[in-house]
Amino acid sequence: MAINDPADKEALLENDRKYVWHHMTPHNDNPMIVASGDGSWVTDVDGNRYLDGMSGLWCVNVGHGRKEIAEAAAQQMMTLAYATMVQAHIPSIELAAKLNAWLEGEYRIFFSNSGSDANEVAFKIARQYFHQKGKPAKHKFISRHRAYHGNSMGALGATGQAQRKLKYEPLGVGFSHVAPPYCYRCPFGQTKDNCSLQCAEAIEQAIAWEGPDSVAGVILEPVITGGGMLVPHEGYLPAVARICEKYDVLLIVDEVICGFGRSGRKFGHHNYGVKPDIVTMAKGLTSAYSPLSATAVSAELYEVFKSGGDTSHFRHVNTFGGNPVSCAVALANLRVLEDEGLIARSAVIGEAFAARLARLREHPNVGDMRIFGSAMGIELVEDRDTKEPAKPERVAAIVAACKSKGLLIGKNGDTVPGFANILTLSPPLSSTDDDVDFIVKTLLEVFSVGSISSKG
Ligand code: PMP
Repeated sequence: MAINDPADKEALLENDRKYVWHHMTPHNDNPMIVASGDGSWVTDVDGNRYLDGMSGLWCVNVGHGRKEIAEAAAQQMMTLAYATMVQAHIPSIELAAKLNAWLEGEYRIFFSNSGSDANEVAFKIARQYFHQKGKPAKHKFISRHRAYHGNSMGALGATGQAQRKLKYEPLGVGFSHVAPPYCYRCPFGQTKDNCSLQCAEAIEQAIAWEGPDSVAGVILEPVITGGGMLVPHEGYLPAVARICEKYDVLLIVDEVICGFGRSGRKFGHHNYGVKPDIVTMAKGLTSAYSPLSATAVSAELYEVFKSGGDTSHFRHVNTFGGNPVSCAVALANLRVLEDEGLIARSAVIGEAFAARLARLREHPNVGDMRIFGSAMGIELVEDRDTKEPAKPERVAAIVAACKSKGLLIGKNGDTVPGFANILTLSPPLSSTDDDVDFIVKTLLEVFSVGSISSKG
């Protein structure tokens, strides 16, 4: 819905400048006011259309404007808008059963509101689990530098990006970080051909140095997404799973972005044949049509909470978690993903990127391209030999050039701490062939027209 009278837009902007605290920045003098969405496209109040190449914040997996999801929400609101999760309600029961089928294992599902919440719940459950097993000293978590796990004090503690944390410390305690699996700039000086998975060994060393009796869990995304699309060696996750097993440390897999088809499988960890103890999820669970997250806990872990009598309860409640409307939205969203074959579609989109953007790999400012399902990272450098990260002006110029042609992309990563030199794309899994053509054509144009020089 476009605004016809420019005065109306000016009034909106004035109130935005006056009253709205934008995320990540105190104000935005000229924000894009998004008015509507349809499929992979969003329209601003001036009527300009953009392909939403990041699905918002990696979350609108089924695309915008889904009537079947809106109808499921309306129906549920009229039937029962709210019940607590101390009670039971039909949509949460159906959704928990459905998630078990998707996870291909037996899990108990604890519902919350956001990805950060889901990770906080995972940490608390892991700590309480070891209390009840008679090992209360096991309370620490190992994470990786570059990882993002959320904005609350514990989830930010798990996050491995210093610039997001510096002004808010001290955070939740007990989190330490090891080098990430970053094959393009291997922290251990190895290459794909001589890789001996030292990045996985680093986790074993951290557990040993911290003391296995003090470590409760390892948290990781199957692929570090927001930290720059770091796709690990295929042996990494299985190696970490073996290490966790060896030291009685829980494997917590954060599927907030990688889940719900983004990876080309139902969950990112399905690509690596591991069975996590805890899986956290949000974003694509509802395709962001309504806030909802979940912490899936293996049946073995749950048994310790169930069989321990009154003192073994997990003392955690949140008002909105498992809201019936959000659960109904999630069920409708999962139906769309299944009925339209969007998980397979995600893999097809990624294959199209790999094949049709191959030329980009030769560009002097492209150091590396990494694809996982339909998510892609393009690491920009000043010099392919030295791998000097691209300067902020160059990255900003490319993002702006894409936007001017109607393509919204992201920039992520922390190669130089706090600075993003990795372009990211993560379009809706429902993107049509025409949408994919548009993304490919726009990127090829932006990279081959000399509009990306940092010298202007
Ligand atoms: N984990 C990962 C991997 C994420 O990318 C995010 C959000 N970008 C979160 C957790 C936190 O999710 P939320 O913003 O819903 O709290």
